[in-house]
Amino acid sequence: MAFILFIGGVALLLWMSDRADKEERRATLISDILWLEQNLRFHLTRNEELLGRIDLAQTADAKTFESFARTLFGFESGLRQLIWLDAEGQARRAHPATMDSAVAGETTEVSPSRQSFRLARSLGKPVYSSAYPFFTDDWQFEVHVPVSREGRVVGVMVGVYRIREILGDSVPWWLAERYRISIVGNSGKVLGTRSKIESAVTDEGYQVAFDPPGWGLTIHAVPYHAPRPLASVLLSASLVILALIVLWSLWILRRHVLRRQAVEEQLQREYAFRKAMEDSLDTGMRARNLDGEIIYVNPAFCRMVGWSAAELIGRRPPMPYWADDYLDETRAMHDRVLAGQGPEEGFELKLKRRSGEVIDVLIHEAPLIDAQGRHSGWMGSMVDITERKHADEQARQQQDRLQSTARLVAMGEMASSIAHELNQPLAAISSYCTGAANLLRNQVPTDEVLPALDKAVEQARRAGQVIRRIYSLARPGESRFEVVDLAERVEAALSLMDGEIRQKGIHVLLALSPAATVEGDPVLLEQALFNLLRNAIESMRDTAPEQRQLAVALTCAEGYARLAIVDRGYGIAPDVAGQLFDPLFTTKPEGMGMGLAICRSVVENHRGRLSFEANPQGGTVFHVLLPLVPQWVAPPRT
Ligand code: ADP
Repeated sequence: MAFILFIGGVALLLWMSDRADKEERRATLISDILWLEQNLRFHLTRNEELLGRIDLAQTADAKTFESFARTLFGFESGLRQLIWLDAEGQARRAHPATMDSAVAGETTEVSPSRQSFRLARSLGKPVYSSAYPFFTDDWQFEVHVPVSREGRVVGVMVGVYRIREILGDSVPWWLAERYRISIVGNSGKVLGTRSKIESAVTDEGYQVAFDPPGWGLTIHAVPYHAPRPLASVLLSASLVILALIVLWSLWILRRHVLRRQAVEEQLQREYAFRKAMEDSLDTGMRARNLDGEIIYVNPAFCRMVGWSAAELIGRRPPMPYWADDYLDETRAMHDRVLAGQGPEEGFELKLKRRSGEVIDVLIHEAPLIDAQGRHSGWMGSMVDITERKHADEQARQQQDRLQSTARLVAMGEMASSIAHELNQPLAAISSYCTGAANLLRNQVPTDEVLPALDKAVEQARRAGQVIRRIYSLARPGESRFEVVDLAERVEAALSLMDGEIRQKGIHVLLALSPAATVEGDPVLLEQALFNLLRNAIESMRDTAPEQRQLAVALTCAEGYARLAIVDRGYGIAPDVAGQLFDPLFTTKPEGMGMGLAICRSVVENHRGRLSFEANPQGGTVFHVLLPLVPQWVAPPRT
């Protein structure tokens, strides 16, 4: 709109300037033509006076008349011929006597207008004749000036004007430069013209009546195409150029604005997308500058700690969300991160909500790199792991409870077999002691009594061992790692089942390497071995008596002690194999399903592995793999 107004204004200005120019030219034309008319009239009036003032003596002879005529012609009067008519109208003198046409090469006689003569004589005033053609190319008219002496008209002086000569004499050069000036008769016919060039004139002419001398003569002036003044041309041109420049700058501006708008829209879309993304994140994000001042927090972070972004941004340590009881740790970690030494794998920290509740968070810190690629701070992502930690803790407690239950169950189981086992040494002690007492009573030499007493002592020690084992099993968490001789533990575990082995007629094959020393809890390891051996023995319940064979092989290789317990039992069905180590999984009516679960956790606690496979000869092979203690650490075997 403003642009249209501007262009309209420029056009109006140009038009007004052009109009003012034209008006000025027209005003100049009018004043020039009026001046010309005045000038001509002045010439004619002066000539009238000069003609009327003729001395009659000057008409007396041709010579004097000629000198009078020449004097008049010399005034640039426009007169071309003088004729002296007497009172009767007879031409008495004429100069020049004849008139020559320059074009036609003809000569004409003097023949002034009779009508004008009569009128002048009767009126006693100068009278002009109408214009008449002079040969073919010119026109002329006459002025008849009556000359009176003592109140009587004695003659008439006739001055002949030639239109072309008048124009030549009275139109100055500067006027002729500007206009084509013509004298036009009353019929509209052009009688004479003073013109530099014929064509290239404008049509906006001006004319003034040239009366009374001519009979309806008018002066007509038409201006040439005057070149417009340079200043005006320059002004118009600069206005047009200015308008074009404004147009061009508007166009550039519009293009720029459109581009800017597009970029802004794109930015807004991107910002909205990022904001939506940020708002929907569950992970808290927080950026700090290199001085540790908070420069950004996302809504999830604010929800997590309970402080608003406005309250947090610009804060420096200690932060309001640092937990009071962990201030030192938190500050130390803060300093580590700012020094670029924060743990890459992330770290856990305790923070405080605004309500005072303490939460656990997992934090990952990464360098904040700005658009110029400079390291400008640290960006931290924060996940609330309070729930997870709580669940983990509960699971751990559950596991502890389960393990303790398992220990109790296993202990119960073992107690029954140990009670069974204790029967034997106690019965043996009892019979050895009874025997020894009888021998002593019968005065038998001491040498014969001593072996019986030694055997009783040995049985009592074994019973004591069993009791200690039960005692240590019943007190969880008291495990102490020491160097354990695995072969010894296998034998000890087997010895707990001596009675059952004998009772079931199981043939036991042992191949135990004495070098298999591992680091661990001897009681737990023995308990695990006991469980495996007991399962192997129980699996051969229905095996034919001659095939009831239990082989235990202990070897050392590649830094590991490898124990294989091979039975010829009912084996493990494929559908059961996957659940074997699950706690409480059992296929036995009286089973607890804890044995293998305990075994595996014990073995794995000793950085070992427990596995099984089918025995090609029927039955199962259980493998225990435990890392060996390097030989130089192992104490010498006694
Ligand atoms: P339980 O002996 O109380 O059933 P375990 O965890 O010791 O509990 O054993 C789980 C199950 O694994 C047993 O019920 C049994 O089916 C199977 N199993 C364990 N050892 C053997 C083995 N040597 N031969 C065959 N099956 C076995």
